[in-house]
Amino acid sequence: MFNLALFGPPGAGKGTQSEALIRRYDLIYISTGELLRKEIRDGTRLGQEAQAIIASGGLVSDEIIVQIIEKTITGNPGAGGFLFDGFPRTYVQAYILDGLMHNLNTSLHALVSLEVPEEESVRRLLDRGRSSGRSDDNDAVIRTRLREYRDKTLPVLAFYRERGLCHEIDGTRSVEEVGASIQSIVAHELRKRLLNVVVFGYPGSGRGSQSAALAQKYGLEFVATGRMLEEEIRRDTALGRRIKQLYENGELVPDEIVIQLIEQRLEQTRDTAKGYIFKGYPRTLVQSYILDGLLRKHGSTLNMILEIEVPMLELITRLDARSKTDRAMPYDSALPRIVRRLSEHETKTLPVIERYRKLRGVQVIDGRGSFEEVSARVSAAVEEGFRLLR
Ligand code: AMP
Repeated sequence: MFNLALFGPPGAGKGTQSEALIRRYDLIYISTGELLRKEIRDGTRLGQEAQAIIASGGLVSDEIIVQIIEKTITGNPGAGGFLFDGFPRTYVQAYILDGLMHNLNTSLHALVSLEVPEEESVRRLLDRGRSSGRSDDNDAVIRTRLREYRDKTLPVLAFYRERGLCHEIDGTRSVEEVGASIQSIVAHELRKRLLNVVVFGYPGSGRGSQSAALAQKYGLEFVATGRMLEEEIRRDTALGRRIKQLYENGELVPDEIVIQLIEQRLEQTRDTAKGYIFKGYPRTLVQSYILDGLLRKHGSTLNMILEIEVPMLELITRLDARSKTDRAMPYDSALPRIVRRLSEHETKTLPVIERYRKLRGVQVIDGRGSFEEVSARVSAAVEEGFRLLR
């Protein structure tokens, strides 16, 4: 989930900016002002209570606000996130928001404050008053609304500053410029919330098929470096031709090339990814440092390491069965190749897993049983990972 609040004096442009944001990030829009005007139009009890206060430019009681917000939130189960406009407006409402988010097992992720000087607010509101049909967009009421903002709402910013959630931006620029600033804040916040998983396991453990399935199931980007190298060769890119030559000379692909490919992939999926699943990378200690650096540059970090564990005899049986379906070379009988792949993992990759075990812990998944059984275990781990990101 991603929850955002737009903050600022009346006329700061919160409503205007909201339109683009809810479309782009698929958020449920909660404007307390609009909800109140709807209650008034519908002639409800809450509407009747709020009407006179709104007309005078004062703030409606927190009691009323909590009721209309709760109604909207519970009316949208399964929402991907909420965008709050004109809420919270008081200290009490900041705590109310906390509680509402807590009930949903989530929290407010960012508050963007659009800074606009008072004279500019007045000018914009008077301008809007000519077409909005809002009875509270007139000179005397505007003054009261701004005073309420200064006295009761502005102090709420301190609450969010202390929590490191507050982003203050210049709201006097063009709609497009302000929109771009908000989007870069949102993109940055979303990147902090990516689920980045590395799936380890001996060859034959099912790490490849399980991680591909996980990526598909949870909409995560699948980063399988072996596949990416092959893809470059197939597309006959400049990089692909270099890789092919290395392969033909029996040389290893240097880390520089793989770095470029991963970097490209992170860049291309910057705005859309919910997270990344790495398979077959990192294979060496050096690569594990590289991956940390690449993710840090991307504004993100690894947050889950899985190791699919299968007993050695079972691995050999699986790999042997698989080798019979490969085009086995006469000089490269199946067994030595299997042994080479297994020992490669043991000498180079186990130290990487050990490093992560010390750094942040590794979740060991029992890789025995059917594909579906193992899949259920890895899925449970990933779902827990998503839950912790909320
Ligand atoms: P807005 O559309 O956000 O400018 O709100 C219009 C009017 O609705 C405000 O001047 C207040 O009277 C009332 N209102 C809207 N949101 C709130 C809130 N969170 N708390 C108290 N009063 C509110």
